[in-house]
Amino acid sequence: AKLGGRNAVCFFDPSMLADVRARADVEAGLWIALEQRQFVLHYQPQVAADGAVLGVEALVRWHHPVRGLVPPGEFIPLAEECGLILPLGRWVLEAACAQLAAWADDPWRSRLVIAVNVSARQFLHEDFVAGVVAALERSGADPGRLDLELTESSLVTDVDKVSEKMEALKALGVGFSLDDFGTGYSSLAYLKRLPLDQLKIDRSFVRDILVDPNDAAIARMIIVLADNLGLRVIAEGVECEEQRDFLARNGCSSYQGYLFSAPQPIDALEAFLDARRSR
Ligand code: C2E
Ligand code: CA
Ligand code: CA
Ligand code: CA
Repeated sequence: AKLGGRNAVCFFDPSMLADVRARADVEAGLWIALEQRQFVLHYQPQVAADGAVLGVEALVRWHHPVRGLVPPGEFIPLAEECGLILPLGRWVLEAACAQLAAWADDPWRSRLVIAVNVSARQFLHEDFVAGVVAALERSGADPGRLDLELTESSLVTDVDKVSEKMEALKALGVGFSLDDFGTGYSSLAYLKRLPLDQLKIDRSFVRDILVDPNDAAIARMIIVLADNLGLRVIAEGVECEEQRDFLARNGCSSYQGYLFSAPQPIDALEAFLDARRSR
């Protein structure tokens, strides 16, 4: 707001209107995108210490007719705010399950797990379990091949309700990973009360693991914690061999990152998998 003159009281900044308009435009664009099937999944391999591919994480992109491929950081937060995350999250689950079903007849690809990111708002919605079950049933996908990546913000609300939902899906064989572990709430109490399978070391800790003793200590702490709780642990954002070796020396069992592969469209991913299979 400007001071003085006739504009002494100016509550309104025109650039704010531009912001609101831009957001409304993106929001409208997102709903159209869903209707016109402009979203696509890319897949990033998750590998064991020996390089064997264990599965892939599905990462959504918006194939915008003008802007090209838009990364999820530019629309997921808005989709969460405006509620679009519910139908979008549902679409992601359906597409991932359809991919699992398409791999089911292949002796090698059928052993892969697909990990799907689930927003807190999506997980906390009362229809979440029914939606996952419907996606599994409609596709015929093996629930044991589906892994759901939850964040701490999904888990810190009503622990009884949360574990009830997780148990219902676990009973079918669905796995659960805790994504971005260590970046959010600090309470660890829920860790032992929830039926998790895996902790994910966030890439913000992996990035400087070789140079920042604090990051190295946190990564080691997560690995020890997972071990003591009987959970698997996967490090994301692994970009070089030295990071992988440091993590391996400290007991990390699986890895994801550009060192192995960036997220890729399905055709490129399948070529990548085939090249690995013959080794
Ligand atoms: P995330 O779940 O932590 O996913 C990992 C992100 O790290 C991905 O970014 C991936 O492309 C990127 N990444 C992987 N390897 C490396 C590496 O070696 N170095 C670096 N610097 N980055 C690496 P992406 O695909 O842009 O996704 C960003 C975030 O968007 C995800 O973070 C996740 O929170 C969200 N997201 C993506 N797809 C979905 C979805 O289907 N549903 C929901 N709710 N969120 C999603
Ligand atoms: Ca994730
Ligand atoms: Ca499983
Ligand atoms: Ca992360």
